[in-house]
Amino acid sequence: MSYNSTSPWRLFTAISIGLLAAAALTSGQTQRKVTKLADGVYEIQHTDVGGGNTTVIIGERQVFVVDTCFLPSAALQDIAQIRQWTDKPVSFVLNTHFHNDHNVGNRAYMDAFPALTIIAHAQTKKEMDLFGPGSYRRETKTNDVIRQLLATGKTQDLAYFDARNLTLTDDDKKSLKDALPRRLAFAEELKNLKFQSATLSFDHDFSIDLGDREVQVKFLGRGNTGGDAVVYLPKEKIVVAGDLVVYPLPYVLDGYPSEWTQTLQNLSQLDADAIVPGHGPILHDKTYLFLLRDLMKSAVDQMNAKLRDSFPAMFQTLDDVKGAVDLTSFRPRFAGNDKDLASGFDDMAAKLIKVVFEEASLR
Ligand SMILES: [Zn+2]
Repeated sequence: MSYNSTSPWRLFTAISIGLLAAAALTSGQTQRKVTKLADGVYEIQHTDVGGGNTTVIIGERQVFVVDTCFLPSAALQDIAQIRQWTDKPVSFVLNTHFHNDHNVGNRAYMDAFPALTIIAHAQTKKEMDLFGPGSYRRETKTNDVIRQLLATGKTQDLAYFDARNLTLTDDDKKSLKDALPRRLAFAEELKNLKFQSATLSFDHDFSIDLGDREVQVKFLGRGNTGGDAVVYLPKEKIVVAGDLVVYPLPYVLDGYPSEWTQTLQNLSQLDADAIVPGHGPILHDKTYLFLLRDLMKSAVDQMNAKLRDSFPAMFQTLDDVKGAVDLTSFRPRFAGNDKDLASGFDDMAAKLIKVVFEEASLR
């Protein structure tokens, strides 16, 4: 997920779904921002449509890349940039989770470095195998829905949207209209792409020595998805968190909030000076990690209290219980005085409560 302070939050978050690169709906140009984290360690932030953050870790022999972003053209730009930094080959890619804004670029890396090994948690590989090849179809479908919305103000395909009673304002329509030509161009990029999934999967922790550079790969528990991988550089004290941490608001729709709290706690135990989120700027302390942890815990605790005092989730609907979970005290902590961000927070909070209830329904 990517957030743009000028975006109409309600609309974009309503349209975005877990498998869709929602960033593609915002209306800026493709932008990249490169930050040097240490000698030979760089973060490439795809600040708009390119996808999630990419981290490049260069050792004496080999290069390790965390996440390959969304648009193949953006991945090719990143590869060109890596070749300016080093003549060592990219030997490893790690996909932090299955959302396609972190792995559609895999193909470009495999084509550029044929000896490449692409690593993912076993659960992530399973979900990438399932959903990765459908990216073009989903983009096309979304564009059809946007056309329908622009023409009629509504869509028959309501199941595709999270907000079933979406009413478009004039601003919403303008944003969609502005975004459509670029979205069509993205779809065109994906049209003939053969999706490249992971080639090596893991369950627990392991580490790789790239030549005077140790890279630890960890599974710290479920959170944003069922197979979130974290990369840790112990010497450099750098953590690459994937979408376990998305700034300035979490993306929650495929998440496991009841476990996410503990996973963030585990993450915070790593001795780190820099935390690279899945989207957004590099974090230099753990304040935001703790804020996310507290948000998840509060949502789960309030839901559990309600269920304990009434009936188990299986006997109730979301409408019966959602009023018992109040997350508004977190709004200023995430959004400050930013009105768009505040509205984005409210939308995210509603989704979080839904996911917490669904999780409780499985118990
Ligand atoms: Zn993402």
